Amino acid sequence: MEIKANNPALKSWIEIKPDTDFSIQNIPFGVYKDSQIEHHACIAIGEYVMDLNALQHLHYFNGVNLPAHIFSAKHLNDFIALGKQTTRAVRDRISDLLTVENKELQNNEAHRKQIFRHQSDVQMLLPVHIGDYTDFYSSIDHATNVGKMFRDPENALLPNWKHLPVGYHGRASSIRVSGHRFHRPKGQTKPTDAPPVFGPCKLLDFELETAFIIGKSTKMGESISTEKADDYIFGMVLFNDWSARDIQTWEYVPLGPFLAKNFASTMSPWIVTLDALEPFRVEGYKQDPKVLPYLEYTGNKNIDINLEVLIQPENGEATMVSESNYKYMYWTAEQQLAHHTVNGCNVNVGDMMASGTISGPDKHQFGSMLELTWRGTTPIKLKDGSERKFINDNDTVIIKGHCKKGNVRVGFGECKAKALPAV
Ligand code: CA
Repeated sequence: MEIKANNPALKSWIEIKPDTDFSIQNIPFGVYKDSQIEHHACIAIGEYVMDLNALQHLHYFNGVNLPAHIFSAKHLNDFIALGKQTTRAVRDRISDLLTVENKELQNNEAHRKQIFRHQSDVQMLLPVHIGDYTDFYSSIDHATNVGKMFRDPENALLPNWKHLPVGYHGRASSIRVSGHRFHRPKGQTKPTDAPPVFGPCKLLDFELETAFIIGKSTKMGESISTEKADDYIFGMVLFNDWSARDIQTWEYVPLGPFLAKNFASTMSPWIVTLDALEPFRVEGYKQDPKVLPYLEYTGNKNIDINLEVLIQPENGEATMVSESNYKYMYWTAEQQLAHHTVNGCNVNVGDMMASGTISGPDKHQFGSMLELTWRGTTPIKLKDGSERKFINDNDTVIIKGHCKKGNVRVGFGECKAKALPAV
């Protein structure tokens, strides 16, 4: 299927710098606020946002069947739930309005003033209400690194790992949008050869992840096949699954992550549609042994998304500490969703499914401090000369991501958060 808005030849009358994440081929959806607007849906283009509520009120969406007030809702859930035919028509129409050939909005200064805001003048909000959040563990390099460190260097992967996408149900209440701050968590940890103690986490870590947002609900008892999975995925965001390694080590047996994870997670504000990511599809990981039939798929199901992580100390310059890529995933989003629903578990619009830490095969591609410093044994040097084994108080961690093919760049913006001292 050809997606009109993805046409690499499209040019906009809006000034768009070549290194922007928000090209005319992207058009990601979000929700903003400013001094006048409490919450309106918007898209990003170059350095601007476009208010979709204003576009609708000025009759620019007359050709699309949209309910009134759909873009003044607090979250995008109801818009997303209209289905891909409608959300695609909206994206195509915005794309049309932004092309050099189209003069409708280009030549209407009064309307442009009502529709455009500079990104620096708005605050981005959490784009969706996340009912449920699941986190997978689907990067083979990450799972191998963790297995080597904590279990058996010779037999790093557990026996189930190559047969099913391992995951756990996370906590949606503490997912925040990029730009937030949180306090270093406190909890129980266990010193070697001493009873457990309570106090601030000493080994605070990030996890470089992406997440996909469910775009179509299912009924209980229904399953989604790998071939149909893309119909149920609206788009993707960047995600940081903050982790307290010392709390995790003590608490995780036998049921997995709990308080080491649920104190904070950060997502980027822009949902890049799966449509916009289609041109960047690449071959999936060659899975050996062969997976069970319900996990098989045809075609290219990985996506070439360049990812990076930066640490910015208080009042200091940011240093890039990791450079990975979503294409290293062993299990694809389609397989994760097929597995998640194969037992009849229902999903709802706005649910979030995170990838798990995305590490690549090389050391500079590892997606957590745990791996980058190999459990703190090889610290990283930052530009200001200081060293990090894990994340310090007042450090800001920034995740960035973008796809690039020819002249077309489609990016995610930033997913950043600052770790404040424990209270
Ligand atoms: Ca994780």
